Amino acid sequence: MNIKYLTPDTVSAASELKANHGSQAVWFAGGSKLNAAPTRSDAGVFVAIDKLGLDYIKLDGNTLTLGAMSRIQDLVDSELVPSNIKQAAGFIYSRHLRNQSTIGGEIAAHQCEAPLVPVLMALNALVCFADDKQVELEAYIQQPSDELIKEVVVPDIMLATLSKRVARSADGLRVINASVSVDKQGNQIVAMEGVATRFDEIAKPMRLRDVEGLTFSGDELEQAIKSSIHAVDDICGSAEYKTYLSAIVISDLLIECREMVKGVA
Ligand SMILES: Cc1cc2nc3c(=O)[nH]c(=O)nc-3n(C[C@H](O)[C@H](O)[C@H](O)COP(=O)(O)OP(=O)(O)OC[C@H]3O[C@@H](n4cnc5c(N)ncnc54)[C@H](O)[C@@H]3O)c2cc1C
Repeated sequence: MNIKYLTPDTVSAASELKANHGSQAVWFAGGSKLNAAPTRSDAGVFVAIDKLGLDYIKLDGNTLTLGAMSRIQDLVDSELVPSNIKQAAGFIYSRHLRNQSTIGGEIAAHQCEAPLVPVLMALNALVCFADDKQVELEAYIQQPSDELIKEVVVPDIMLATLSKRVARSADGLRVINASVSVDKQGNQIVAMEGVATRFDEIAKPMRLRDVEGLTFSGDELEQAIKSSIHAVDDICGSAEYKTYLSAIVISDLLIECREMVKGVA
């Protein structure tokens, strides 16, 4: 097969090349997914984005901007990145993979397991495209798009956020991965991956909006969480185990995060 690997050096040239080749072309960031079995792409044209100058990490006040080509290991190493995002970056167990994969690729790959997505959702992250249009990360995950992600913006890194990932072993399959945030007004965000909200949905990163407005705790909260999710039996665990785990983990994270916010009020 005749494969084209194109290396534009401006965002506008990249967009033009991608448009010219239509559905034949894919964006190529770190290539960790596109270039590996069994997820290798059979696209004929790869538009590389590593020469577009999108490998920056900027902090302006409390607003963090991550260029789409920032490697996951760069997030771990950067002094500008808060510990909650570093923690989630560490959920990608292999340093080799963290050196190769990018924040844009991590989001755009639309994986069922996307370790950084729940914490970014809990932080209200926005996805910014080449034309400067912005959408909420949750909307992007629900409605995949082929547009070039230019950067990811976290509006307030000081938002109280906690995450927990439960896996079968340190480098093994994830069972669930959950993140919550609580702001000073008591608004809560609950995001997770590993289960779905409805029986006819595939498990992918999502927000548990039915749980976000709840202010109670204890058994009542755990029951409400259980009622808002739908888990299936698979290699990661039984549906019953995942449901039980989700209720305990999210309930504990929410209670701890509410306490954190009270502690600094
Ligand atoms: C051995 C192995 C282990 C893995 N383990 C994990 C793991 O533990 N956790 C995990 O999350 N993932 C894992 N992955 C999957 C992969 O590493 C992630 O999907 C990765 O983050 C993708 O980043 P990338 O920059 O390499 O993307 P690429 O492979 O370059 O691209 C992935 C997809 O995203 C699109 N894309 C990339 N950048 C952009 C952009 N800026 N705008 C629009 N579209 C874009 C591409 O067109 C492609 O469809 C693993 C992969 C391999 C091969």
